[in-house]
Amino acid sequence: MIIEDHRVVNIHYTLKDAQGEVLDSSEGREPLAYIQGIGNLIPGLEAELHGKTKGDKVKAVIAPADAYGEYDEQLKHLVPLSGFQSHGDEQLEVGMQVQVDTGQGHAVALVTEIEGDNVTLDLNHPLAGTELHFDVEIMGVRAATEEELDHGHVHGAGGHHH
Ligand code: ZN
Repeated sequence: MIIEDHRVVNIHYTLKDAQGEVLDSSEGREPLAYIQGIGNLIPGLEAELHGKTKGDKVKAVIAPADAYGEYDEQLKHLVPLSGFQSHGDEQLEVGMQVQVDTGQGHAVALVTEIEGDNVTLDLNHPLAGTELHFDVEIMGVRAATEEELDHGHVHGAGGHHH
């Protein structure tokens, strides 16, 4: 069975950046289980895996536009430090992630700079602007059940148990 939309695919993968640093890997874990064609994976990787089958090994280089997007300077926001004071006694520090209300729901922002009363929050995805280098081994392919498609995730091994 080949990988097409609405198939459950199990993969082992290692993700590196262009410098060869490992960003993420399924090594030592169960293979990742996802449903092809419903947005579980970044579009660039789904495109590379389309048509492949169990046992295939795939090397893929995904440009930022087909992964987590280009780095967007507009997603950096300057906010007053005083706005954070009420959130318990944990001191705000550079490198911390904070939840912010964007007006369209909650998002996670990274604190990139604190200067005086000015805090710079970066709402870019941590991998925005990063070219992704994947090594993927396809461990299994099967049809998704109606229930899995309904829920938008895989049930059983490597997926949800409920
Ligand atoms: Zn479910």
